[in-house]
Amino acid sequence: MSFERTLVFLKPDALKRRLMGEIISRFEKRGFFVAGMKMICITEDFARRHYAAHRDRDFYEPLVRYMTGGPSLAMVLEGKNAVRVVRDMMGETFGVDSKPGTIRGDYALSNRYNLLHGSDSVQAAREEIQRFFRPDELVPYTQEDIQWNYDISGKGVV
Ligand code: UDP
Ligand code: MG
Repeated sequence: MSFERTLVFLKPDALKRRLMGEIISRFEKRGFFVAGMKMICITEDFARRHYAAHRDRDFYEPLVRYMTGGPSLAMVLEGKNAVRVVRDMMGETFGVDSKPGTIRGDYALSNRYNLLHGSDSVQAAREEIQRFFRPDELVPYTQEDIQWNYDISGKGVV
């Protein structure tokens, strides 16, 4: 059974504010499976490549400083419509605009220090997963509880 995958990383502010467990717990409880996870120190070069689309924006340099300011936690989450659902759970880009109940809406007010990244399309997820993880760092395992997270009694995963 194969699900959509998305790349999430908890940014340095999430780790410094000791919110790792809190955030992972939300994804876990929603029903996502964790296919890979590791602590990383994002290098300047890596940050510049990851955020290349924002190269010409005025927030690019402060964003690179933010991303290289401490360790991050990268993970691959697996589940139905993982890309969209994770983005919905994150909230808006600006903490201050995010609805209560979302991660940013519950824990962030800043327009920059917004705790986490999530891929914004299936194509971006594919590229970002490859950028962050080697294939052997992703562990396929039997999700024993799958029948309690989805109805798999008929055709497909509902
Ligand atoms: N960012 C910023 N100022 C802005 C917009 C974005 O510092 O005006 C930072 C913020 O940390 C954001 C990241 O740049 O998460 C990437 O921006 P993007 O628009 O891709 O937001 P996201 O996809 O993370 O919601
Ligand atoms: Mg983005």
